[in-house]
Amino acid sequence: MEAGYFDEGALIGVLTAQPLDRVLDYRAPEGGCQLGAFVEVPLGPRKVLGVVWGPGRGDWDIAKVRQVIRVLDAAPMRDELRAFLEKAGDYTLTPMSAMLRLATRAPGLGDPPSMRKVYRLGHAEPERMTDARRRVLEVLRDYGGLSFTLKELAEMAGVTTSVVKGLVKHGAVAEENSPRDLPFPRLDPDLGSKDLTGDQAAAAETLRAGVASGRYGTVLLKGVTGSGKTEVYLEAVAECLRRGRQALVLLPEIALTAEFLTRVQARFGVQPAEWHSGVTMTERRRVWKMIGQGGAQLVVGARSALFLPFRDLGLVVVDEEHDTSYKQEEGVLYNARDMAVLRASLCGARVVLASATPSLESWANADAGKYDKVELTSRYGPAVMPEMRSLDMRAEKLPSDRWISTALQSAVNARIENGEQALLFINRRGYAPVTICRACGHQIGCDHCDARMVEHRFLKRLVCHQCGETKPMPEACPSCEAEGRLAAVGPGVERLTEEAVKLFPDARVATLSSDMFGSARALKAEIEGIAQGSADIIIGTQLVAKGHNFPLLTLVGVIDADLGLQGSDLRAAERTFQLMRQVAGRAGRAEKSGVALLQTYQPEHPVIRAILSGDEEGFWKAEAGERRHAGVPPYGRMAGIILSSSDVQEAFDLGNALARQDAPLRRIGAQIFGPAPAPIARVRGRHRVRLLVKVDRGTPLQTALRQWVGQFRLKGDMRLAVDIDPQSFY
Ligand code: ADP
Ligand code: ZN
Repeated sequence: MEAGYFDEGALIGVLTAQPLDRVLDYRAPEGGCQLGAFVEVPLGPRKVLGVVWGPGRGDWDIAKVRQVIRVLDAAPMRDELRAFLEKAGDYTLTPMSAMLRLATRAPGLGDPPSMRKVYRLGHAEPERMTDARRRVLEVLRDYGGLSFTLKELAEMAGVTTSVVKGLVKHGAVAEENSPRDLPFPRLDPDLGSKDLTGDQAAAAETLRAGVASGRYGTVLLKGVTGSGKTEVYLEAVAECLRRGRQALVLLPEIALTAEFLTRVQARFGVQPAEWHSGVTMTERRRVWKMIGQGGAQLVVGARSALFLPFRDLGLVVVDEEHDTSYKQEEGVLYNARDMAVLRASLCGARVVLASATPSLESWANADAGKYDKVELTSRYGPAVMPEMRSLDMRAEKLPSDRWISTALQSAVNARIENGEQALLFINRRGYAPVTICRACGHQIGCDHCDARMVEHRFLKRLVCHQCGETKPMPEACPSCEAEGRLAAVGPGVERLTEEAVKLFPDARVATLSSDMFGSARALKAEIEGIAQGSADIIIGTQLVAKGHNFPLLTLVGVIDADLGLQGSDLRAAERTFQLMRQVAGRAGRAEKSGVALLQTYQPEHPVIRAILSGDEEGFWKAEAGERRHAGVPPYGRMAGIILSSSDVQEAFDLGNALARQDAPLRRIGAQIFGPAPAPIARVRGRHRVRLLVKVDRGTPLQTALRQWVGQFRLKGDMRLAVDIDPQSFY
């Protein structure tokens, strides 16, 4: 018997995605099976997917142990991925079954390969040669012997599909059936690299050398927006591909993938594999399988791409690494940035964390020498960082339904006269955050959550941003039944659009908010249109802060720079700083210089002053000092425990019991805060009670947490979720 191979009938342990808290014993199937093999096993009356996790434990009634039904047609899960799932599960206190679900998110993994039509070079010459036909044949010759789908081939040759079909008729292109899950076209690492500037070339060389070392290491690639971070990390990708290893690029937002795909195509000749919620199920399966077999060299995707079964992962890029969407807030609570580092350390890969405004965690790791740091300090070409100024709103006497100050208004007018674009930024979706009854003072709330309903005029509904519940805008107050007395209070992006349309009657106004587009494609089209000048004024939420490139944009007006500073989130200052710098970075990305104007009621606030001064190091040092003093992340460790139940009393009872029986936590010197109602105390009809645990760094927090919560059995519909390093404190 070779290592990692189980002969027929041997007792093996199989991990399934079923919510059981152990690996189950089975007998190896006819022909035996490999460690890590994907298998189908009987479980009660059902057949389920599993992975051979190791030898069986043998603590099961041996007569009842059943046999594996069959080994599936997929590359066995490698040691590295099994170790990653175990370590990530340990870290986040997640059961292994849930971890396996993350790693098998593709449909029909067990199905036999289905067939589809593909096209390759034929033997005949077409009777009449046209430019279009020649291009198709050239592509096929360039890729010697490879075959493509109709759509791929037409796209690569830049022709319509009918050109390819015409060539099939002439026998110049052969059409055949082939398994659906085809390898992805090969990327050429030496195709189209740009001439890098001195700074860029030095940064690229550092990243390349890291990849070439073949060992784990993390680099923080910090550079202002537009400095060429993407160009630089694409060189690391190229080096990774040259070495025959696979690369993964994580992006925080699907809307950013389209632009990225275009750049990959320009740099490497073809597009990479994609992995995110917008990818069809069949394509997902293809990606999943090809990653395992080495038929995909580069994947661009969302955080869940970290759990793909790479054959040989050599590089992970986390672009916009500070972005909060890397933290998964439902189901398995993990931070993709941290998990990227973990996975890379297990498979000898490099990590590049790219950002103009790094998270304090990454800044601190670089500061402590745990990460290398590479910096690009100036924008590429003639572009410079915008000038930033505050507009003191205390001096403005605006009526209560107006938010655009006169100073901002005249700045916008000046841009429009110049044929340039202005962006008005407000980080609030919908029309108005609050709807209040002027007769009784009642504020309309969600029936299922402790949250206000937000009016969305565009949808003509009230929406709960917590649970997504919507209802039509009522005519009468739900509390006192007075009619026609409901009033919108405060601005959202839609209301700001209304104001802008009035103030700038001749301007073309476009609104960009994630909820206003039915599909990623519609959003992409709108963004492309704006980049080409289809609008004079862009009104946008957080969505516009992320990486889009609008060359005509020279003015950014932030409607409420103070918004993020309210609230109790320990990262409020950091988030505001990052967001304001990111938004401001949208201005002046091309030849024309930009200005960012921040409307604020507290221009002396240290965070606002830091944003304006551009003294980033100063800001990080001050912020780090405060966090160190308070013993909070990244200088201390925290975990949130959220108990949720339909019965508020039971949730509090369990919370109190946890707080009393705290011996496991006291042993590691942890402090417990709570139980208290969670900041949003009711979501989807469930009451939520929260405890916070805080402890010094370097203590075995997870072990203690496991012992602590392990003292209790959950009764009824009670749920307990542990959130390590909580990012949002809701
Ligand atoms: P970042 O990722 O830091 O925001 P990008 O890599 O997107 O910056 O670069 C900003 C713009 O400048 C892009 O359009 C990019 O193609 C261009 N650019 C950057 N560096 C170069 C270069 N060396 N040669 C040509 N164009 C460049
Ligand atoms: Zn709700």
